[in-house]
Amino acid sequence: MKKNVLVLNSTHLPINITGWKRALILLYKGKAAAVKYNGCLINGRFRLPEIIKLLNFAPVPYADVVLSRKNIFLRDNHTCQYCGRAHSNLTIDHILPRSRGGDDSWTNMVVCCARCNCKKGDRTLEEAGLKLKGSPYRPSSALYLHMTRMSGVPASWHEHFFKTN
Ligand SMILES: [Zn+2]
Repeated sequence: MKKNVLVLNSTHLPINITGWKRALILLYKGKAAAVKYNGCLINGRFRLPEIIKLLNFAPVPYADVVLSRKNIFLRDNHTCQYCGRAHSNLTIDHILPRSRGGDDSWTNMVVCCARCNCKKGDRTLEEAGLKLKGSPYRPSSALYLHMTRMSGVPASWHEHFFKTN
């Protein structure tokens, strides 16, 4: 059984994702409180948490997400943000080309296939008649970026990320 639990700091900032066993130990030891249960029981009696909150503040350094090629690929799920396909021949596109004053930033860089990149050239979206599949964003934390890559993430987790960032 794979049940992951989101761990919030005492300030409600998400700081970790842990397994249900570790989460139950934290609850049992009185180090954490359940914020939300997932509706499942273990051994017919222990309610499994979906989110727990540490009762004492844990000094965790804030993990800012570095703007890098690798992280942009992770954010965009290795998928061209113009045609939506996961090609093998992917690159990074500057939405507003650098030659037109576009900068290196989370909101100006997306994953792009060679075909769309060639089609777009040195033009703006309007000029090239291209539309983005989504809005490029700056991941709020390394944990958030990690979470977007996991499958079966409970909807309740997202609320906590958006609440605190
Ligand atoms: Zn494409």
